[in-house]
Amino acid sequence: MYIVQIASECAPVIKAGGLGDVVYGLSRELEVRGHCVELVLPKYDTMRYDQIWGLHDAYRDLWVPWYGGAIHCSVYCGWVHGRLCFFIEPHSGDNFFNRGCYYGCPDDNMRFAFFSKAALEFLLQSNKRPDVIHCHDWQTGLVPVLLFEIYKYHGMGNQRVCYTIHNFKHQGFGGPEILWATGLNREPYYFHYDRLRDNFNPFSLNFMKGGIVFSNFVTTVSPNHALEVQFGDYGYGLGHTLYLHRHKFRGVLNGIDYDIWNPEIDRFIPARYTAQTLEDKAKNKKALRERLLLQDVNKPIVAYIGRLDEQKGVHLVHHAIYRSLFKNAQFVLLGSATERGIGAWFAHEKSYLNDNPDVHLELGFNEELSHLIYAGADVIVVPSHYEPCGLTQMIGLKYGTVPVVRGVGGLVDTIFDRDYDPHKLPEQRNGYVFYHTDPAALESALDRAIDLWYTAPDQFRQLQMQGMSYDYSWNYPGKEYLEIYDFIRHR
Ligand code: ADP
Repeated sequence: MYIVQIASECAPVIKAGGLGDVVYGLSRELEVRGHCVELVLPKYDTMRYDQIWGLHDAYRDLWVPWYGGAIHCSVYCGWVHGRLCFFIEPHSGDNFFNRGCYYGCPDDNMRFAFFSKAALEFLLQSNKRPDVIHCHDWQTGLVPVLLFEIYKYHGMGNQRVCYTIHNFKHQGFGGPEILWATGLNREPYYFHYDRLRDNFNPFSLNFMKGGIVFSNFVTTVSPNHALEVQFGDYGYGLGHTLYLHRHKFRGVLNGIDYDIWNPEIDRFIPARYTAQTLEDKAKNKKALRERLLLQDVNKPIVAYIGRLDEQKGVHLVHHAIYRSLFKNAQFVLLGSATERGIGAWFAHEKSYLNDNPDVHLELGFNEELSHLIYAGADVIVVPSHYEPCGLTQMIGLKYGTVPVVRGVGGLVDTIFDRDYDPHKLPEQRNGYVFYHTDPAALESALDRAIDLWYTAPDQFRQLQMQGMSYDYSWNYPGKEYLEIYDFIRHR
């Protein structure tokens, strides 16, 4: 099968969060299974050019229709750890992708509407006719709309679209200008509740809703989240739309790429280990302490890695720091804030805790350090307010770092409480789960993890090994996506 992924991220060259990991990991799995996969991405000024091999211009004269005229683009091509990627670079005064950031500009909707249009125009002009186009999140929600309303009539009638939603909170909104810019025009037609009109703001188009309505298949990133978004609050207003399209909607649990996230072969950690040589994890713990200037004492290390954002339960992350210290554990945080207020809050905490030898807060994005933390820590906390899938708990498991998670979204599908899980046998359990959003709830799980570390090291080790034996690779999700592709191709 010939599959083209259109996305705004692909790790490690463009990574703001889990989306990048998923786009890369899924592409790799599909290729390993013998399919042809290509990726179309924006050419950001800030992406990691050192992670691209053989970057060269592949298509110099791509004119992308935009408003009444057209924007000239160049398309570059290169390999990102073996994946063939095409990067679109527009040349216009808008400077869509030369902003020093991936997201967060006031005209993000225009930037990614343009990207969606340019990606399809590129496929059309370069005679690429994939069997399946797989696009991701609001940034590419307009891809199926444009494909089935415009490009279908220009020779792309056989393409099918699978649309994966990684985060319902960010949906992409815009007014009629989006329609005029992309050539969709026909305001009354698109401003209809059955199409792109937002379910709550009648004056706004909703990109993600467009993706749901027009795609051949829609997925989100875990089975439990698929239920939450249809029947709970986490669909952020799209629950009813999803319910109407439920016959083509499913949750597929993300995987992680064990070529990258694997303590047996990880090149960023000083001591590699397996479940059988788990005692070598201690060398990484020592290295982590040295690197972050923590005192070398007999205490467990609790870690948090992730965005510092309301979604991630920052208040509980904050509480976990002090609770760990209170319980005589050390705490390491690696996180970047998405909002200024939260950034300032944690910067303040950092300076407040600066002289404490048992805690280190690293504010920023650091891929290499994250590997060392996964390998060196004993416990990883994921107290998310909501979590479509969550990768950090799965990575933690692979590194023998026991997850303490809140029971929402994909965390429910992946972590099973050591003491209480009703559906798993004791030897199948792999972490600690709490449900409420108050500090006491977090304590109910974190305390048990820290206490087990102190009072029953053998049992703690057993729990680590049980976690390491789980297979959350792309093997199963890869198969599931292929079934979906097959289904939409032959429907
Ligand atoms: P998100 O909601 O951000 O997509 P996920 O748990 O799905 O959360 O994925 C987070 C990914 O980003 C993981 O691979 C994690 O290691 C990585 N990550 C998050 N924050 C940082 C950071 N500050 N530095 C390095 N890696 C990070």
